[in-house]
Amino acid sequence: MSHHDGEMDRHGSGPEESQYGPGLRALRRQRCLLWGVILLYVPQMWITAQLTHSNRAVGVAFGIWFIFLVKAGLPVAFAPCPRCGNYFHLKNFNTLYVRRCRHCGLHINADRKP
Ligand SMILES: [Zn+2]
Repeated sequence: MSHHDGEMDRHGSGPEESQYGPGLRALRRQRCLLWGVILLYVPQMWITAQLTHSNRAVGVAFGIWFIFLVKAGLPVAFAPCPRCGNYFHLKNFNTLYVRRCRHCGLHINADRKP
């Protein structure tokens, strides 16, 4: 069933993709940072609760975490695609953290493919 997509077979193989390397690397770094912030949520809440036993402190910790989430998330949401210049993740005012540009289909790892 993988034989039908003949027009995709040279995908990622040309020098064309490598020119997007710096842009894609920056994009991956921003996505990585966002995931880091998201993954930090549980340990941060847990440690704050264990150390302080205070709902108020947990609320403050949540507020700080949320600020980090917004600060890490906005650059990802509004990151431009290195190929087509449209927002990589944003289309019709909704954001999906897919691994391809939602406008031109450029893969987040296009520059890494052999
Ligand atoms: Zn694009």
